[in-house]
Amino acid sequence: MARMTRTSDTLTAMYDAMVQRFGRQDWWPGDGPLEVCVGAILTQNTNWTNVQKAIANLKAAGVMGVAAMDGLDVASLAELIRPAGYYNRKASRLKNFLRAVAAEWGGDLAAFLDRPVPALREDLLAINGIGRETADSIILYAAGKPTFVVDAYTARIGVRHRLFDAESDYDAIKEVFESALPDRAELFNDYHAQLVTVGKTFCRPRNPKCDACPLNAFPHDVEDVWEEW
Ligand code: SF4
Repeated sequence: MARMTRTSDTLTAMYDAMVQRFGRQDWWPGDGPLEVCVGAILTQNTNWTNVQKAIANLKAAGVMGVAAMDGLDVASLAELIRPAGYYNRKASRLKNFLRAVAAEWGGDLAAFLDRPVPALREDLLAINGIGRETADSIILYAAGKPTFVVDAYTARIGVRHRLFDAESDYDAIKEVFESALPDRAELFNDYHAQLVTVGKTFCRPRNPKCDACPLNAFPHDVEDVWEEW
């Protein structure tokens, strides 16, 4: 439950300004929970177009299913997801995820995902190669449960707007948003999408385009160049 604070007012007003400019975003790209999980694991350090090519390969090979994908050896899986880059490492991570769902949940992804957020998050973070952003992306977009996804755009915009300081870690940033906003997956989903759009379009690490940005009316400071978080 969100505490109504000045941060609540600020974050709500910032969201309204972004929605007014961009409209609601249509996230997450992905056809069903498994594809969303695969996408969340493959998207690290690459763009979505490359992830889509990898997912298309998996579908064309007829292995877009927990058991079918888990039945592949890591090398075969790596070959199929090659377009996503870092394919050996990502194949191992994907395999670790599939193993966890297959071994402990009989391959029933819906049952794996249909649990309270803390338990699901703990289990995801226990999988070797699944970090906090990936875990939260799976919880929010595949399970449809409220957890705020933090990324470099969130950190950069938040620091520049003095919502938290530059030393804040992932969970501290997540807590700022979750304690200030209503606990709704749909809102967390769209809020993250709006921040990504602002980050890509205006809030670049160098030479941010504040004059054209929908958040320009909110106090901010871009004098300190924000290096990648
Ligand atoms: S571009 Fe400027 S106004 Fe827009 S989010 Fe970044 S710091 Fe704020």
